[in-house]
Parts: sequence; C-alpha cells; structure tokens
Amino acid sequence: MSWRATILTLYPDMFPGPLGQSLSGRAFEQGRWALDTVNIRSFAHDRHHTVDDTPAGGGPGMVLKPDVLADAIDSVGTDNRPRLLLSPRGRPLDQARVRELASGDGVVLVCGRFEGVDQRVIDGRQLEEVSIGDYILSGGEMASLVLLDACIRLLPGVMGAQASGEDESFESGLLEYPHYTRPAVWEGKAIPDILTSGHHGKIAEWRKSEARTLTAERRPDLWNAYCAEEQD
Ligand code: SAH
Repeated sequence: MSWRATILTLYPDMFPGPLGQSLSGRAFEQGRWALDTVNIRSFAHDRHHTVDDTPAGGGPGMVLKPDVLADAIDSVGTDNRPRLLLSPRGRPLDQARVRELASGDGVVLVCGRFEGVDQRVIDGRQLEEVSIGDYILSGGEMASLVLLDACIRLLPGVMGAQASGEDESFESGLLEYPHYTRPAVWEGKAIPDILTSGHHGKIAEWRKSEARTLTAERRPDLWNAYCAEEQD
C-alpha cells in the first residue's frame, strides 16, 4: 500500500499540478504515492452548489460552510492518516513534522478558500491546522502542494542514490554549507581549495564550520536552538 494523499478542495484540477513533474512525478508513476481529490462543491446541498456564506458577525469575504465541508470530510472515511487543514493560524510546518508525515500512511488535506472555514468543522472533525509560513495565500491548494512535495521526496526510493537528504538544511538543525561545481574557476572565482584537496575529514570539518557560520548569521532562532541542543 502506497503513501496516499487525499485532497479536499474547490479546485481539484490544481492536482497533481507541479507534483506530476520531475522527482514526485516519477515517484507517482512508480506508484510510490497515490492521490485522490474530493471536490468540496459536489457536497453542496442546493441547486446553486453553494459552498460559502457571509461571516456571522459581519466583515468582509465569505466563509466555507460547515455542513458542506463536513460532508466532504466524512466521505473520506476514517483511517490512520492525520487530517490537516492548511491555515495561516496553524503550527508552522517544519522538517521534523514533514518526516513524521512522510513515515505514516499519508495525509488528508483540507484546502481553505475565502476568509477560511467555519470554526465548528475544525473542532468537530479534529482538523490539525498547519501553516507553511507567515504570509497569506488565496487558498490552501498551493500550501498543500508544498507540504506534499516536502513529504514525497522523503518516501522510500524517491530520492534514489542521494543519501536521503540527511545533510540538508534543517536536518542537523543547521542551514546547509555552500555548494560548488565545475568549472574550477568561474568569473575569476575559484572553488575553495579545501573542496578539491581530497581530504574528506577536512572537507567535512570545513562544511560543518560554514554551516555554523551561516546559521548564526542568518537564523539566530535556529542557531540558539542548536546551541541549546549541543549543551545537553
Ligand atoms: N482569513 C484568514 C486567511 C484566509 S486565506 C486569516 O487571516 O487567517 C484562505 C485559505 O488559504 C485559508 O483558509 C488556508 O487554507 C489557505 N492559506 C492561506 N495562507 C496560508 C498559509 N500561510 N499556510 C497554509 N495555508 C494558508
């Protein structure tokens, strides 16, 4: 049984979208992950297929109706997969959570639209809110694509020979060291000597030190967490 993503959305045609290309596209063809979409609109109750209504208490925009969305969610049935609602109010997605999600059976993703969804569905269907960053998108679809891309590349066999991305930014708590490739000199700039020295120990040391410097400079939040971890 492959890792399965079920997406509840008003725009099912957005999937698999970019995930049908490259690494995730190949993995899809190989059956390493599966996708189904549920069109929330097909659960509307009236002949106009209404999915939204004005916010109680007033204010701009529209809100996804709880009855319609709940019926869409219930149509998926229950299994071991977490039910996530993409939402700027959610816990920010990080690599540790991505690893957890990738190691499970898959995900059920609810894509919000308009001003968001009725709070009673979030509570009543135990949706875990997940944010992909502190900015506002127009819908949860792109956020879902981001979350899925991050998970799919970690599924068994997807990255192939690459050492499962263990060196990458965030995996060690540090940002990644800089990369270089040929030509040896480009626009008058040479690749750092150490990288062409063949001393694997020294190269590893250099990379670690570059990663530390970069992280301290760019991401004091990560750096402080890393230092605290090292002290333990
Ligand atoms: N009024 C809401 C924003 C609604 S944006 C607020 O201020 O919190 C419409 C939909 O886009 C949301 O329901 C959510 O599904 C999605 N979305 C927007 N920004 C997002 C983000 N940073 N991360 C995840 N989903 C997001």
